[in-house]
Formats: sequence, C-alpha cells, structure tokens
Amino acid sequence: MTIRSAIDQRVRQACEINRFEHKDQVLRFAAKMATVVTIVADILNLAAHVSLNALGLLPYALVPAAVVGLVISTVVASVLTFSVVYVIGLAIHRLTISRAMFERLSRTDMLSGLLNRRAFVDEVSRAPQDASLVLFDIDRFKLINDNYGHDVGDRAIVMVSKQLAAALSEKHIVARIGGEEFAALIVELTPTQRLALVERCRQMIEASKVGDDVAQLRVTVSAGIAERGSHDTFQSLFIASDRALYLAKASGRNRVVHFDPIQESMGKTSE
Ligand code: GH3
Ligand code: MG
Ligand code: MG
Repeated sequence: MTIRSAIDQRVRQACEINRFEHKDQVLRFAAKMATVVTIVADILNLAAHVSLNALGLLPYALVPAAVVGLVISTVVASVLTFSVVYVIGLAIHRLTISRAMFERLSRTDMLSGLLNRRAFVDEVSRAPQDASLVLFDIDRFKLINDNYGHDVGDRAIVMVSKQLAAALSEKHIVARIGGEEFAALIVELTPTQRLALVERCRQMIEASKVGDDVAQLRVTVSAGIAERGSHDTFQSLFIASDRALYLAKASGRNRVVHFDPIQESMGKTSE
C-alpha cells in the first residue's frame, strides 16, 4: 500500500466514524499526536546523544548537549506536529460536516422537511416486525391546486406534514413519498392503538386550517394501513397499504381503511 493510499484510507475512516465532527476533537487529536511524536523525538534524540558520547563522537559535554538537544526536539516536534495534524484535521472536519449535510439533504424532502421516499425505505428496512405501514393521500388535491393555485397546494402539503410530524412523534417514522402522498411506519403500541393513532392524524388534518386567507379551505386525507408482520417483503406490505388506501378513496375518502388479509381474500377490507 502506498503512503498516498494509506493516508487516503485514514482520511476516509476518520470521515466515516465522524472522528472530527467537532473542532475540539481535532484540537485534542492534534495535541495527542504532538505529545506522542515529541516523546518519540526526545527519546531518539537522547539515545543519539548517549550513543555518540559512548563512541567518543560527541564534541560537547553530554548533559548540556542533551539538554539543548531535548529543548530543540521538543519545540520543533511539538509545534510542527501539532500544526500539521491540526491543519489536516480541520480539513477532515470540514469534509465531515459537508458529508453530514449532504447526507441529511439527500434524505430530506425540501418542501415538507420530512424524510423523503429513499430515506423512508431505508428506515423501514431497519424497523421492527411489530409495526404498521400507513399511506396517507390528500383528497382531491388536484382540485385544491386548480381552485386555489399551486402555492396554496404547497401550503396544504406543509400543513399535512406538520400535523403528521406532530401526531407521530420521534419513535415513529413519517415521510413525504410523493406529491401529496405520505407514509408512516408506526411502531410499538398494539395494532388497535396504531389504527386509533392514524384515525387521530386524519381528524387533526381535517380540523386544521391552511391559512386565514383561505379559511374556507378544508383539507382531508385518506389512509390505508397494513401490518408489517403479515408481509415478508416491504413491497408486499406497501401493496397491502396501497390497496387499503385505494379502498378508502373508493368508499368516499377522508377515512382510514385497515388492510385485513383474511377479509381481503374474501373480497372485503375492514374500515
Ligand atoms: P384523490 O383524492 O383521488 O387522491 O385525488 P387527487 O386530486 O388528490 O389525486 P391526483 O393524483 O389526481 O392529483 C394529485 C395532484 O397533485 C396532481 C399534481 O399536479 C399535484 N402535485 C403533485 N406534487 C405537488 C406539489 O409538490 N405541489 C403541489 N401544489 N401540487 C402537487
Ligand atoms: Mg396521490
Ligand atoms: Mg390525492
């Protein structure tokens, strides 16, 4: 391995483990490296003085020569090492920060501030078996755009996002996965409590205003919910929730439909 590739690998590792996430970590690392290098330099310096003296090659008295040598090696090694490591560390720190920012941006939906589809799929793959997948879709959203303009449509999306984020606190995962479509993975609780929570989300959205300038505008959502445990793959779980959402739309909108595999096989799905 060349020195260049070794340095490259170390820098990558440092970025990946967020070793230099904060500036004081860089400072501490530089001080540690400077101490180690100074100790090694001092030991080598002292050994050189003692060896040269033993061979009769030291032109000065051992003690004053060693003391002067040690002072010089201490100052040079510590200042030089600290400066080089600190400068490189700061560069890695900046890389770490931009990497974290890029990572956050690539996972965030810009309009709503929620996770985007990619991040949601990623999170769901790590989520526990005992969870429900919910798909929310704003009802007749095209009409909102047509009647009030795209801007108000965007504000409606933001309002729904805020309500979902408020109702589904940190432990649950909520994302905007398409134009006026949202997904949530609801964890913990019992399936009945999860269904009640989704129903509460629906009610909260129905009761919220988009703004005083469009006070008469009411936004509603339909939701389809399916249990993760009954599905082997994310795709099959997603299809089940989507099927329930389709039924919520077909049966009048502004409602939550729970996918029931048994009833589904008999052609019915519970509301
Ligand atoms: P349904 O009740 O069946 O869901 O009807 P809908 O009108 O909500 O559904 P449809 O799929 O026909 O229309 C969705 C519209 O959402 C169409 C598209 O122009 C609009 N849209 C998609 N993304 C955005 C966005 O980011 N902002 C705004 N304002 N509109 C969007
Ligand atoms: Mg839609
Ligand atoms: Mg819609």
